Amino acid sequence: MKKIPAVLSLLVMLSCGRTPSATDPASVVSRDTAFEKMCGNFVEDLWRHSPEWASSLGRHEYDDILEVSYPEARTKKVNFCKAWMDSLYTFDPKKLSPKNCTDYYLIENHLAATLWGIIELKAYEWNPASYNVGEGFALILGGTHDSLSGRLRALYGRMEKVPQYYDAAVHNIKNPSLEHTALAIEQNEGNISMFEKDMLDSLRSSSLTPVEKKDFSERAVQCAKAVRSYIAWLKKTDNSHPRDFRLGKKLYLKKFEYEMVSSFTAEEIYQRALKRKEELHAEMAKLAKQLWPKYSRGDKKAPVDELELIRTVIDRISLDHVSRDSFQLAIEAQIPLLEKFIRENDLLAIDPSKPLVVRKEPAYMQGVAGASVSSPGPYEKNGKTYYNVGSMAAWDKERAESYLREYNRYILRILNTHEAVPGHYTQLVYANQSPDIIKAILGNSAMIEGWAVYGERMMLENGFGDNSPEMWLMYYKWHLRSVCNTILDYSVHVLGMSREDAIELLTREAFQQRAEAAGKWKRVTLTQVQLCCYFTGFTEIYELRNELKRREGNNFSLKKFHEQFLSYGSAPVKYIREMMLNP
Ligand code: ZN
Ligand code: ZN
Repeated sequence: MKKIPAVLSLLVMLSCGRTPSATDPASVVSRDTAFEKMCGNFVEDLWRHSPEWASSLGRHEYDDILEVSYPEARTKKVNFCKAWMDSLYTFDPKKLSPKNCTDYYLIENHLAATLWGIIELKAYEWNPASYNVGEGFALILGGTHDSLSGRLRALYGRMEKVPQYYDAAVHNIKNPSLEHTALAIEQNEGNISMFEKDMLDSLRSSSLTPVEKKDFSERAVQCAKAVRSYIAWLKKTDNSHPRDFRLGKKLYLKKFEYEMVSSFTAEEIYQRALKRKEELHAEMAKLAKQLWPKYSRGDKKAPVDELELIRTVIDRISLDHVSRDSFQLAIEAQIPLLEKFIRENDLLAIDPSKPLVVRKEPAYMQGVAGASVSSPGPYEKNGKTYYNVGSMAAWDKERAESYLREYNRYILRILNTHEAVPGHYTQLVYANQSPDIIKAILGNSAMIEGWAVYGERMMLENGFGDNSPEMWLMYYKWHLRSVCNTILDYSVHVLGMSREDAIELLTREAFQQRAEAAGKWKRVTLTQVQLCCYFTGFTEIYELRNELKRREGNNFSLKKFHEQFLSYGSAPVKYIREMMLNP
C-alpha cells in the first residue's frame, strides 16, 4: 500500500524523448532489447492473469477460464502487480529509446492503477454491475477464431466457474449504489436467455457428441440458475444505506490521473471547460445573429435571450437532413470526399491500402450508438476496420426524425471527420504502422478521443464546409458536447451536481434534446472520468500545436505536425509532447 505514492512521484518526474547519451551505442541497444524482452514476458503473464481481457483482444488460449473475484484472487493480482513493478524498476526509463520509455511509463501507470483499483477504489464492493459474465461468453460464442465445436468446448470449461463467480460477488458487495444495482439487474437479466437459449441453439447445430451435448446443457442450466439467484439477491437485499454513485473528490482526482495520464489535473481541465463554454456561447451568439435574417421564417423579432436565439437558429438549420433510407449511403459517399479534401489541402498522408468498410451495425451492438468505428485487436491479423452505422429500421417516424435532425447534413459531416477521416480510422492506420503491443493494449483514451475531436476542428480551420456560418455554428454545438461532458462529469462526481441542474446544463447551455440529456445523465451516474477524455485530449493536442507553431514560426508545417504526432501510437499526449518538444 505504501508503494503507490512513491510511484506517483516518479510519474511526475518523468521524461522521455532525449536520446540516451551516445557514448556507448551498443549498451543502449542491448538495454532496449532487454526492456523489450521484459515487455513481451509481461504481456504474456498479463494474459494468464486476465483471460477475459485477452479474449477480447483476440488471444483465445484462456477462453475456458473465468476469473472469480474471491479475496485470494485479489491478493494474487496485487502480487502480480508488485512483482512486475520490481522488474520494471530494474530499468532506468531515461536510458531507454523514446518508444520504450513511453512503454515503461504506460506499464507503470497500468500496474499502479490496478493496485489502486483493488486497494482504494474497490468497485468490486459497490458496483454490482462489475459482475456480468455475458460479454465474455457472447464474444467467444460469436467469434470466428475457431470452429463452433471448439468455441463451445471452451465455453463449457468457462461455465464451470459461473456459480462461484456470482457467489464471490455476493460475498464482496457491501451497500452498493442503487444506480449500479439497477444496471446489474438489467444486464444480468439478459444473460439468462443467453444460457437458456442462444448457447443451446448453437449447441444443437454443433457436431459435439451426444454426451458432450448433455453435459453442456446441464452446465448451462446451472449457470442460468446462478444468474437468477444473483438477481434475486440484489433485489431482496436490504440496502438502507446505499453508497452514493458519485465518486467524491479524493477518488475522482486519482482516477483522473490514472486514466487520462494528462499534464493537467482534473480541476484544471474543469476550469478550462467552463471558460471554453463561455467562449463558445459568445461565438455562437455572433453567428446566430448573422444567420437570423436567413432563418427568421417571417418572425418579426429575434429572441432576446442569446441562448434562445442560438437554439432557434440551430433548430431551423437542423431541418436540413438526409432521409432515413439514405443515411448509410450518405456516410459512405462522404469518406472519399474527406480523403480528397485532406490530400488537396496537404493535411496528412493517408495510406490507401487499408480501406474503411462502412456497414450496418451488427446485432450485438444494436442500440448502443449511432455510429462507431471498430478495429481489429492487436492479435487479429488482417482483420478489417468497420464503420458501424446504426439502423433506424425499427424506429417510429418521430424517433427517426428527431435523430435525423440531430445528425443533420452539417453534423453528419463533422461526425464523419470524428469517426473516420482524419479521426479514429486514420489515427488507427497510423498506430498500426508502428506496431507496439504495449501501446495497443494500454492505449490512452484521451489521446484517441482527443485526436478525433482535434480533427473536427482542424478540418474546419482549413476550410472544410466552405467556412459557412451554418457549418461553424453546428460545429460549435457539437464541440460543446465534449466541453459539457467534462463539466458534467466533474460537477456531478466532485461537486455533487443534481440531476435537475445537469439536465438544465445540457439542454439550455449545450442545446441538447431532453432524451439525449437524460441518456447522458444515466451515463454519468454509471461511469466516472471517462466523459472527460474528449476535451482533455483535445486541449492538450491543441496546446501542443500552438507551442510548436510559436517555436517554429514560418517553418511550421501542419502536415509534418500531424504525421509526427500520430507516429508515436496511442500514447498519452504528455509523452508525445516530450518527444516532440525535446527530440
Ligand atoms: Zn425532417
Ligand atoms: Zn470518438
